Amino acid sequence: MNNREPSIELKAYAKINLGLDITGRREDGYHDLKTIMQQVDLYDVIRLYAEAEITGSQEPGQILISCDHSMIPTDESNLAYKAGRLLFDEFQITDSMLIEIEKNIPMAAGLAGGSTDAAAVLRGVNDYFGLGLSDDELMQRGVKLGADVPFCIMGGTAYAEGVGDQLVPLGVMDDFVVLLAVPDTRVSTKWAYTTYDKMLLAGEIVHPNTDQLRAAIEMEDFGCVPDFLGNVLELVTIPEYQIVARVKNEMMKCGAAGTLMSGSGPSVYGLFIDEEKAATAFDWLVSQELVPEERIFLTGFHN
Ligand code: ATP
Repeated sequence: MNNREPSIELKAYAKINLGLDITGRREDGYHDLKTIMQQVDLYDVIRLYAEAEITGSQEPGQILISCDHSMIPTDESNLAYKAGRLLFDEFQITDSMLIEIEKNIPMAAGLAGGSTDAAAVLRGVNDYFGLGLSDDELMQRGVKLGADVPFCIMGGTAYAEGVGDQLVPLGVMDDFVVLLAVPDTRVSTKWAYTTYDKMLLAGEIVHPNTDQLRAAIEMEDFGCVPDFLGNVLELVTIPEYQIVARVKNEMMKCGAAGTLMSGSGPSVYGLFIDEEKAATAFDWLVSQELVPEERIFLTGFHN
């Protein structure tokens, strides 16, 4: 890591889905969704160091990535790089920049880890170089990098349609304690959606009521939220990855008000009203050794 003061430092928050339904399949192969996303207080730290001397580069407008997690790519495929490149090219920025990523969000877990890093870089570059882009303008650029990027710029709680990019903010949610567990296995998003299509044809899909969940949040009837959590992809992922159901069970036994898998999994969380119960559930879950301790987080909503 760098010993110098960063030009700018930002927190890039993870998201969970409180509701996720698939409403159709588009001609481009993507699926139309109805989803409610919520930022949680688990974050990567993004540090931007501007100036050529820091990157050691002679070329103007270079962007370098460093990350403390060896599995994250540090080349041009990193979403944080793509975000920086997008604004550097559009605004013809000739400074060079080092983007340092302190990775705390488990990757490929349905928590939007890459998207949120990209969102933070868009924000950071906009602020540091005084580009004057509004949140809406940043979101218009962010969607080119990934469907979750606009939400990561907006933050808080939001309802989304389309591929997740048509957003409606849902105001400030009540705070729940979130016990989040990320089983150490990888679920391919592509596999999940393909399997969903097959199950739909076979008549094996029951849709969650995302509208009911949205209405409860809009009416500030937050007590109902744990009861109305629903993710259509649980039907797909759980039969193949039973760890998700086992973790959900343990959380319910420990007094969670509701549990849900996030995205296509394998992340799974429980919402708790009582902090003490949640802390006891955390200890219990660690003791069960279903999920490595470093992949279990006691966190909350970030509004
Ligand atoms: P989403 O919830 O948006 O579908 P995810 O949380 O499931 O995303 P990510 O953590 O974003 O998944 O990782 C998906 C892939 O993106 C990884 O395999 C990784 O190689 C790549 N990637 C590119 N940039 C990043 C980044 N900054 N952080 C994490 N992964 C990144």
